[in-house]
Parts: sequence; C-alpha cells; structure tokens
Amino acid sequence: MNIHEYQGKAILKSFGVRVQEGIVASTAEEAVEAAKKLKTEYNSDWVVVKAQIHAGGRGKGGGVKLAKNLDEVKEKAGQIIGMQLITPQTGPEGKLVSKVLIAQDVYYPGESETKEFYVSVLLDRAKGRNIVMYSTEGGMDIEEVAEHTPHLIFKEEVDPKVGLQGFQARKIAFNLGLSGDAFKDMTKFIAALYRAYDETDSSMFEINPVLKTSDNKILAVDAKVNLDDNALFRHKDYEAMRDTSEEDPTEVEASKSNLNYVKLDGNVGCMVNGAGLAMATMDIIKLAGGEPANFLDVGGTANAETVKAGFNIILSDPNVKAILINIFGGIVRCDRVAQGVIDAYKEIGNIPVPIIVRLQGTNAVEAKKLIDESGLKVYSAILLKEAAALVTKVLEEK
Ligand code: GDP
Ligand code: MN
Repeated sequence: MNIHEYQGKAILKSFGVRVQEGIVASTAEEAVEAAKKLKTEYNSDWVVVKAQIHAGGRGKGGGVKLAKNLDEVKEKAGQIIGMQLITPQTGPEGKLVSKVLIAQDVYYPGESETKEFYVSVLLDRAKGRNIVMYSTEGGMDIEEVAEHTPHLIFKEEVDPKVGLQGFQARKIAFNLGLSGDAFKDMTKFIAALYRAYDETDSSMFEINPVLKTSDNKILAVDAKVNLDDNALFRHKDYEAMRDTSEEDPTEVEASKSNLNYVKLDGNVGCMVNGAGLAMATMDIIKLAGGEPANFLDVGGTANAETVKAGFNIILSDPNVKAILINIFGGIVRCDRVAQGVIDAYKEIGNIPVPIIVRLQGTNAVEAKKLIDESGLKVYSAILLKEAAALVTKVLEEK
C-alpha cells in the first residue's frame, strides 16, 4: 500500500527521523492558515506548497512551488489543488490533486551550503536482506543516476536478524562526504530511518532528497513509502492511511468482495480459484491465442456471490471478448460452483460475451451436466486443453 508524503513523514517523525515540517491542507484558505502556523511554530517565512499524490516527480510537473508570502501561498495552493498533475510517474492522464502539504522552507541560506542526498531502504528478496541504497546525487531522478553515473550509487546490505549496525551508519555518512555535526546527525538519521522501515513492516522507504541544511542538520524533505499489505493487520493505524481515490477503482471494488484482481490489457477475462492456478490459466489463454484481460483469484469460496462480483468486475472492462472460469473443486464442490455460475448469470442477465467454464475436482461430472442443461450461453469443459480449445473457437467466431 502506498501512502502520501505527509503520512510517510508522520511515520518517520514518530520514529525520531527529522523531517521538513508541514501541515496538510485541502483548500487555499486552509493553506494560508497552515502557513501562519508554520511561521509561529518554526519561524518559517517562506513555505513550499507540495501536491499530495501517489507519484513522484511532482516538482518537474509543477506540483511543488515555493511561496514567499501569504498571498503567494493562497495563489499557489489555489493553482495546485484541483489540478490534474502530470509527472513522469503518473502516465499521460495525470492525477487529480485534492490535498497539498504546506511545508517549511528548509533551503534557507547560511554559513555553509545546503546539500541534497538520496537514501532509501528496501527489501532485496533474492538476497533475503534489507538494503540501504544511497547517493550523493540527491534530488534527481535516481533511475537517471543509475543509468549515467552508477558508481555514485552505494548499497549497504543489512542482515534483518541483527539490524543496522553502528559502523554501517558511520560508513554511509562517510561515503556521503560528511564530517562534524552533519556526519553525526546523518548516522542518527540513518539508524532511525532503518528502524522506521523495519518496525512498520514496509517494503520501501525512499527519501529523495535527504537534505543537509545550511546549519548542518539532516532531514527528510520527501518520503515515498510502501507499506506491505500483508502486514497491515499488525498496523491498524496505518490501514486508515489508505487513500482509495489513488487506486484503480475496479481493484478497490474487487478487494471489497475479497477478490484479488489485477487489470491487464488483453481480451479474455478469467476467474480462477488460487493464485497458482490463475497464473497457469493465463498461460493457457496465451497458448490458445488470446491475451488475459486480468488476473482474478476468487479465493477458496467460489459461491454465487463471489462469482457475481467477479463477473461484474470483469465485464466492466470493455476489452473483454470472452470469459474463462477455471475452478478446481477441492474443498468447494464443483456442482455448487456451477450452480453459483448459473445463478449469477441469471441474476446479471444478458452477459454479452461467451463464457467457458472448466470445473475439475469433486463432482466435476455433475457440474458439467448442470451447465450443459442450464440452457445458458455457457460452454463447459473438464480438461484444461478442452477449455483452451473453446477459448480459441469463441475468439475466432467473434
Ligand atoms: P518530488 O518532485 O515529487 O520528488 O517532490 P520533492 O518533495 O522531492 O520536491 C521536489 C523538489 O522541490 C526538491 O528536490 C527540492 O529541490 C524542492 N524543494 C522541496 N522542499 C523545498 C524547500 O523547502 N525549499 C526550496 N527552495 N525547495 C524545496
Ligand atoms: Mn522527491
């Protein structure tokens, strides 16, 4: 689950990571109030107005703007709230901005220069280790740094059993070219950041830029956080940070019915029980000359309700030319699934595309009989091979 910058910063702060302070606002008036509050609490004359969307590269798209007085705050917040922000990460349609973070300006001039770094903590699944990735080239697109100057990206592997060690934090601060107070502050920053990543069960914390201020403090200016969905049950308070308006609407609908759905670009919708079988089914569709329109795992209980929800979600995709239902009846009985398909079909009425149902396992023969005698435009198969042949046939007929 992705969260917004302001939420990521709140988590970081709760673990003792210093952040660029800010207050979230949904209107230009709230933005002005926020700026006044920042002035009294942090003596911040200038503020930055930052669009809150689940995508990076906001600065490049005009979603991060400096405001030097309250009139500018009002003007710039007014421009950004409600805009369709296009960044290199949003796709050409962009994303609607409904909130801005009013943040203290931390790039103030001083006796020493400000400097931007890149620091992220992420999981390396192949190695079974956490990785602290860091670079002196902060504030820029890290993919570009990786492409043009890969030697400027460092990686520190952390054994999850023992956690980040003091010498590792010092090595990172050293490699970033720091000394004195900034060096010390960076080691604290890295240790607290690692703890935030670890204790929230996250799969990524990316801070770009990490800033060394002109008075040698280290702080997080940005926060891109990915919390592991499978661990959210242990973090009820983070679950509330979910912003479904940032997610694919059909995927949100599916998760309400406990379905695992991922939309794809093909023409054959599929409804399957079990993720492994769903993958195999997608392969079979490809072999039969089709392209899967989605991944849909209905889980262990394939009854009329789940099948109906599945149909509705699949049919909301105009590219779908046929639907393949592939259910293995282990704990669920195939005849009950077949009845579920028939009931759902009748309830929705008039499904415009052919449906191929392959049921295998307990009571498969009875299930096929039910489907064949239902009088509906549903083709049945017991073998996967037969189902694939039917997919090819209905696609050719189209
Ligand atoms: P992103 O573009 O989505 O990654 O958003 P960031 O939060 O990283 O902000 C983009 C850029 O805005 C940063 O790299 C900074 O250069 C700039 N920026 C952020 N905060 C401040 C600030 O307090 N003062 C000034 N002058 N610039 C800032
Ligand atoms: Mn950034």
